[in-house]
Amino acid sequence: MDYQAPYRGKYKISCPFGKKGDWAAGWHIGNDLVGLESKNIYPIAEGTVKSVNAHGKSYGKHITVLHADGKESLYAHLSVIKVKKGQYVTKDTLLGIEGATGNAHGNHLHIEVHEGGWRYPPKGSTPKECKWILDLRELLLEVETMEKKEVPKWQKEACQMVCETKHFTNPDDWMKKVENAETPTWGEIFGVLAKCL
Ligand SMILES: [Zn+2]
Repeated sequence: MDYQAPYRGKYKISCPFGKKGDWAAGWHIGNDLVGLESKNIYPIAEGTVKSVNAHGKSYGKHITVLHADGKESLYAHLSVIKVKKGQYVTKDTLLGIEGATGNAHGNHLHIEVHEGGWRYPPKGSTPKECKWILDLRELLLEVETMEKKEVPKWQKEACQMVCETKHFTNPDDWMKKVENAETPTWGEIFGVLAKCL
């Protein structure tokens, strides 16, 4: 599935996933984001609104969206909720507006992603023990990596040249990687560079 950021326009992370602190779990199980250009909140992927204000007062006005791959995303501290339980939402459906309802210091979006349904981690657990809770930044990183797949022409040419002139042991494999726009590993890059020296 392709995920998108919940904001249109720039945003910043005001508190990252996994940070240790005063939370019931002992660590921050979501990411706190602040919209810098717009406060409108969109779902990270299409899905169905599974719940509205179902997970306690500290989340303030909050909703969860169930996605086709079984992940459930939660959007908390909203000032306004614009969707209803059971509603199908696309990536362009406005879920609500960033706010500071519930246990929040200032306006921000607290966003969580759970694999296989929302489940709060046990007290004193660690992120590693709670593999069903995902760091949104990693889902978005996948998207960003995919978007970056276009390899510049000069890089392909340089690669070809180095491989040909230096009789790189496996130029075909590396070229294939480059053509498929996979980033060569550092080991592979150093392997070629070593042959140039
Ligand atoms: Zn938070």
